[in-house]
Amino acid sequence: MDINKIRADFPILKEEVYGKPLVYFDNGATTQKPLQVIDCINHFHRHKNSSIHRGVHFLSDQATEEYEKAREAVRSFINASYAHEVIFTSGTTGSINGVAFSFGEKYVHENDEIVISEMEHHANIVPWQMLCERKNARLKIIPFDDKGLLNIEQFEKLLNEKTRIIAITHASNTLATINPVKEIIKIAHRHNIPVLVDGAQSVPHLPVDVQDMDCDFFVFSGHKIYGPTGIGVLYGKEKWLNEIPPFQGGGDMVEKVTFEKTTYNQLPYRFEAGTTNYIGAICLIKALEYVQSIGLLEIQEHEHNLLSYATKRLDDLGYITIYGRAPQKTSLISFNINDIHHYDAGMVLDKMGIAMRTGTHCAQPVMQHYGIDGNIRASFGLYNTTEEIDLLIEGIKKVKTMFG
Ligand code: PLP
Repeated sequence: MDINKIRADFPILKEEVYGKPLVYFDNGATTQKPLQVIDCINHFHRHKNSSIHRGVHFLSDQATEEYEKAREAVRSFINASYAHEVIFTSGTTGSINGVAFSFGEKYVHENDEIVISEMEHHANIVPWQMLCERKNARLKIIPFDDKGLLNIEQFEKLLNEKTRIIAITHASNTLATINPVKEIIKIAHRHNIPVLVDGAQSVPHLPVDVQDMDCDFFVFSGHKIYGPTGIGVLYGKEKWLNEIPPFQGGGDMVEKVTFEKTTYNQLPYRFEAGTTNYIGAICLIKALEYVQSIGLLEIQEHEHNLLSYATKRLDDLGYITIYGRAPQKTSLISFNINDIHHYDAGMVLDKMGIAMRTGTHCAQPVMQHYGIDGNIRASFGLYNTTEEIDLLIEGIKKVKTMFG
């Protein structure tokens, strides 16, 4: 990987904050965008903008064609069987809420159970809790150990004839654990239970093959994989998408509307009510192409090196607690500087130009597991370097001198 060439593709990396070069370590929250994505958004608005699926005029036809090409590109990226198994949504949150509502309406009833894990992002907790409240159903939780590994034995014990669906993160946004989703899905399917996999934190870091994984639903956000905000994906097996009801009503998702009855459009349109973020979808492809042009395996190796380097340097300091020590991790480290509040640390590091997330990272149950009220999260992307990690270590030493 030619890191200098890659960095040159991301204009924001040349910015300074407080007169210091920006060190961007908040990729778990959102990634920066390469010129290819920025130019795509600009170019489309300047030259091609028109509503899709609606007009017979040239611009509308052209936009529709590009949108459907985007769907096919996502299909290929995650190796879905059919393009109509790819639904464009507003993001991971939108996708999970859609499935929780729609699947829940049809299949979840009083006293039924839904299984999630202790390490989920709030986006994969709250929609299921809301469903449980609506239906008087129960949420069951797979625990993780102090290293950040799910207890698979315990998981299997949670399953029974009342379990309707399992929703699990592929990679934790706080512990970085890459979960054994294939194994989890195999166990679930032995009990005829479908599985939704939250891929928000896996898709940017490792190759994903939904057929090989055999998941029933897979969701992710464009903005976490160097693409635009407000666009995301809900992959569903054709069988499920044909069985569950649409989660939103409106234009484009219908076949025939009368005041007596409405019939719905075919897949994938029945799940895409209203004017979608078609420019987001079209320009997401530039991000996927960008990642593919570097190679996901190369990115994985580069990020793994960053993770190992940062872990060693933090451990060497002797006063850092790292949360999450799974053998398979994405390039993200949650930690605290012993006896120093994460907000104090975050504020000093910010003044040094280092952007990191401090707090609970929308995963409060993870913090409750460790009995802390938050921590600091450094999450690395394909453009980060070991020199930037050195700056972080210098920053931490400064924090320690100021507050220690
Ligand atoms: N799931 C995980 C694991 C995440 O890390 C995030 C965002 O941080 C989400 C879901 C929600 O993603 P979005 O805010 O893009 O909908």
